[in-house]
Amino acid sequence: MSENKFLTETEESEIVAAIRLAEKETSGEIRVHIEKTTSMDTFERAKEVFSLLKMDETALKNGVLIYLAVDDKAFVVCGDKGIDDIVGDDFWDTTKEVMAGHFKNGDFKQGLIEGIARAGKELQRYFPCEDDDQDELSNEISRGE
Ligand code: CA
Ligand code: CA
Repeated sequence: MSENKFLTETEESEIVAAIRLAEKETSGEIRVHIEKTTSMDTFERAKEVFSLLKMDETALKNGVLIYLAVDDKAFVVCGDKGIDDIVGDDFWDTTKEVMAGHFKNGDFKQGLIEGIARAGKELQRYFPCEDDDQDELSNEISRGE
């Protein structure tokens, strides 16, 4: 399956809308990156994409990347160090469980939307949205090779 046909335009705009909604509750910035495959370790590749997308440049270091390698059937939720500094290693476990449940059934759109919503809720406790919040990172889905 090509990552271009992976989501329809409608599904993609639903995902972007889910990011916009989640970011109304938290100053954390959520992005989704989808690519076909990677020859790298998935987590290492996610960290590389994180910096390629300049996600480490948010003021509070609270960007979160949901990285998905379609053909590898692998995904990673990767937060910046502002998050890692104050939460435990298991912080993303519920988010990942929600996503994995849908992915297993082949429902990638729903998995991403619910994962984004869950990540937003988890972040809200530590990084509530302030009145002067800015959209520091694009809500659009980014795509790799
Ligand atoms: Ca923001
Ligand atoms: Ca954003």
